[in-house]
Amino acid sequence: MFCDIVAGKIPATVVNKTDRTLAFRDINPQAATHVLVVPTEHHEDAGVLAAADPGLLAEVLTAGVEVARAEGIVETGYRFVFNTGPDAGRTVFHAHLHVLGGEQLGLFGRLGR
Ligand code: 5GP
Repeated sequence: MFCDIVAGKIPATVVNKTDRTLAFRDINPQAATHVLVVPTEHHEDAGVLAAADPGLLAEVLTAGVEVARAEGIVETGYRFVFNTGPDAGRTVFHAHLHVLGGEQLGLFGRLGR
């Protein structure tokens, strides 16, 4: 589905674009700043991306830092998340980095904590 956003078939609020990455606001934000960074080339998840093209994974992370800078949250702090598999609540099967911040974030880990 994120391939459709990359292709412009599904609208999204794009905040950053590089040769090989696209960053857009999450449709259901979990923090004041919640941006997704995807490689424009399809890779199933972060592990697959790391194995196939570690340089592209680094570009995704670098784009995430650029998003944090543009959102003004470098000093206040931010969180990078890659969800993989059902226990992590992963729903979209195109590698994507969550960039979360802009307010104090909750703890993460076991459900209910
Ligand atoms: P996951 O749980 O797979 O790590 O995260 C998928 C994320 O994609 C969720 O935070 C969800 O809100 C977001 N999302 C799902 N569909 C769309 C969409 O069509 N547009 C945008 N901008 N975000 C989406």
